[in-house]
Amino acid sequence: MLSWDEPITTTPKKTAQVPLPLIEEQHGVLGLEDLEMGASRIQVDDKKIINCRADLNQLVPFKYTWAWQKYLDACANHWMPQEINMSADIALWKNPNGLTDDERLIIKRSMGFFSSADSLVANNLVLAVYRHITNPECRQYLLRQAFEEALHTHAYQYVVESLGLDEAEIFNMYREVPAIHDKAAWSLPYTQSLADPNFHTGTPETDQRLVRDLIAFYVIFEGIFFYVGFTQMLTFGRRNKMVGASEQFQYIMRDESMHMNFGIDVINQIKIENPHVWTREFQEEIAHMIREAVELEYRYAIDTMPRGVLGLNAAMFNDYLKYIANRRCAQIGLAEQYPGATNPFPWMSEIIDLKKEKNFFETRVIEYQSGGALSWD
Ligand code: FE
Repeated sequence: MLSWDEPITTTPKKTAQVPLPLIEEQHGVLGLEDLEMGASRIQVDDKKIINCRADLNQLVPFKYTWAWQKYLDACANHWMPQEINMSADIALWKNPNGLTDDERLIIKRSMGFFSSADSLVANNLVLAVYRHITNPECRQYLLRQAFEEALHTHAYQYVVESLGLDEAEIFNMYREVPAIHDKAAWSLPYTQSLADPNFHTGTPETDQRLVRDLIAFYVIFEGIFFYVGFTQMLTFGRRNKMVGASEQFQYIMRDESMHMNFGIDVINQIKIENPHVWTREFQEEIAHMIREAVELEYRYAIDTMPRGVLGLNAAMFNDYLKYIANRRCAQIGLAEQYPGATNPFPWMSEIIDLKKEKNFFETRVIEYQSGGALSWD
């Protein structure tokens, strides 16, 4: 069943009676620690990505410069959904001969999946992940990412409103359409255990649980489950249809590529600092999760494209998802699960995978725009 249990249920009265726990009692979940006068200054080496016991309110000195750079890059990429003109989409959608039923199905299913998916990711970030990542520069990026997830949900709402779609139908698809429900339901358990207020990292088992959640959301949810929808919506734009919605998705994809890259950098950094996490059994478990995800996403491709449309068909996604999954495995240091898988959409690689998916452990990102920043004469 899909439900989101609020992790904190204490009443204000009760909260006022309970003193904040001392730093020693917080098991690495810090941020509201006592301010001690004259305590020694933070050194770079005091910083750790998880289970850090140093002051979390001091952004500098930077240790993870890649996290700070991603925060700057994300801010430079700022955009708003209402900046994109939807009038051509509205005219096309309202024209009875403008789109086929198969094309309309893809658009409605995309809105149905993504509108709840980005809310799920935002909840995972704010209610689960943020508490356990104990580094200020990473948290700075997480705050920016959380805002971007809100922007994406806003973008879907804006498309739904512009086209006059049935809001209740779209926003309930993740409860009513099996291929959409199954992806959301697959991911929810990973975030729910971390949102438990009694959950703390700091043991090999709980550290693994955090890494498992990070992989579920950053590598699989944002890195595999978004890709059939991304390809479909971009294909509309390439065929000069639904150009406004397609443009929204280009901006969303640019943000999402960076979210995934950030997540992969965090996962790899946790592995470096906590090599005990990356056991043989754990790697096999992660490989199994990735294979499950490929099957779920392929089912979504079939559900959204019962027939070929826009020069796409479901079988093409069988290859594409395996190709994407291999790439995700390589990015987190796992063996490729589908040797020899090829990419039927080389134009997608040109747009997303290769240019935007570069992460710290592969190479430096040089591609992000800086057009959103002010320049002073
Ligand atoms: Fe995201």
